[in-house]
Amino acid sequence: MCGPWVFLTIGIPMPADTANQEKSCQMTTPEYPPAAHFINGDWAEAASGETSASIYPATEEAHCQIAAGTAEDVDRAAQAAHAAFQNPKWRQMPPAKRARILWRMAELIDENRENLARCESMDTGKTWFDSSKIEIPLVAEIFRYFAGWVTKIDGGVVPLPGNSIGMTLREPVGVCGMITPWNFPMLMATWKVAPALACGNTIVLKPSEQTSLTALWMAKLGAEAGLPPGVFNVVTGGGRAVGTPMVQHPLISKISFTGSTEVGRMIQRESANTLKRVTLELGGKSPNIVFADADFKAATRGATTGIFYNKGEVCAAGSRVLVQREIYDDFLEALQKIAAKTTVGGPFDEGVRMGPVCNADQYESVLAAIENGKAEGARLIAGGNSLRDSVGGGKGYFIEPTIFADVDPKSKLAQEEIFGPVLAVTPFETPEEALQIAHDTRYGLAAGVWSKDVGKALGFAKQLRAGTVWVNTYNLYDPGLPFGGFNESGFGRDLGKDALAAYTETKSVWVNLD
Ligand code: NAD
Repeated sequence: MCGPWVFLTIGIPMPADTANQEKSCQMTTPEYPPAAHFINGDWAEAASGETSASIYPATEEAHCQIAAGTAEDVDRAAQAAHAAFQNPKWRQMPPAKRARILWRMAELIDENRENLARCESMDTGKTWFDSSKIEIPLVAEIFRYFAGWVTKIDGGVVPLPGNSIGMTLREPVGVCGMITPWNFPMLMATWKVAPALACGNTIVLKPSEQTSLTALWMAKLGAEAGLPPGVFNVVTGGGRAVGTPMVQHPLISKISFTGSTEVGRMIQRESANTLKRVTLELGGKSPNIVFADADFKAATRGATTGIFYNKGEVCAAGSRVLVQREIYDDFLEALQKIAAKTTVGGPFDEGVRMGPVCNADQYESVLAAIENGKAEGARLIAGGNSLRDSVGGGKGYFIEPTIFADVDPKSKLAQEEIFGPVLAVTPFETPEEALQIAHDTRYGLAAGVWSKDVGKALGFAKQLRAGTVWVNTYNLYDPGLPFGGFNESGFGRDLGKDALAAYTETKSVWVNLD
């Protein structure tokens, strides 16, 4: 059985007995939020009166409707958030009280775990195990972690010349706009919402239009926990319809974005007009580097969960595995065996390790990347096909866990983020060569190093240009450990103490005592 640490981490290597086997995983329809935004403490219909469908990836059918937001809705939410930021009820709330609200949010999330997990699996196609045992419990842990910080956000005293004292105060940034992706909808939103609230900001959150349900519930639970109206608003809808007006809105002081590098670039450009603070958590093509002296079994597991966990829809997925030549052939054989045993199926089906990819665009683009890999001449050693017919009976975005060997580090397969269950394996001879290949992309989000010689592994980790380096493990996350990218994987950090810096401004006060 899995130990308690499973509740604190995501992406853990799953032994066979933990694969989607909780007996209560029969699919039942979740309780859906209304097809509305959440603005100023209540549900609010879209100004346009329009809604759009959320699709269940296992059947390709609409399973619910969400409000189709526009600039008018963004303006309503920004005005509400601005008013709430000025309101002494929030502005002057004692930190201990704010901490209790965040803690209560964690409790409410735990109490609603099953429904939130159902919403998440219906929206994303991820397995019931991943939603109910990993993602939602981790969301609650993050709220608890940041509840702990609320009473500890302090400033400093600085020596000044003469009879003066200098002080630094940490103050909230103001209205924070948050734009989040569809791969871990509630978790990615929480990485931003929890520290922003802890620091006393107010929020306008736009979840991905494909996976909005848990963000709406999170705002509702926040209101139940005691957040004053307007502190936490959610506007649902498309990137251009809702995201762009958020980035342009003069009352929004900061944009915190998680998503693709391309959209991140646009957001940074657009934000310049109103000089918003910007945090960007973007894509990756992370190398998982296996030395010949690694624990072989652990490394094969780390290499496969690094790419097949959550169907490869993980920003930090170890999508490139670099293996030292001495063990290359044996390693490929082991990877092949694990891929063959990775059961693909509906998110609520027992024994399933990998659900369907999240949406139609993703399904098409992952299959296109596989075709490109074949055309580039990489050696396909596992998968490579759609399972829509064999697993889904003609419906559902099911794709085989896929592995290419002998991948040219310069090829598209090794350079471009696929964001799906497709692994590129490349051999290397020396640590110098491994480092050179590892750095040979535009990204720098994460990396893994496998060696029983911890000194060697740490020395190598030190040289890697990546925001996170896992040594002899992969894809583990903790609320206290900051996460973010180097290079074109973005800048700024979510999680940990560093996240507080992202949601505060420093004010300097000079006090003349004469
Ligand atoms: P995406 O960039 O397409 O969309 C992300 C969000 O941006 C969505 O809410 C979308 O509606 C919105 N958006 C789209 N166009 C916009 C525009 N013009 N203006 C404002 N908002 C806009 O990304 P995605 O497909 O939802 O997610 C996958 C990407 O996210 C991958 O590249 C993945 O690596 C990245 N990601 C990064 C992290 C991280 O922490 N670094 C975590 C998860 C996902």
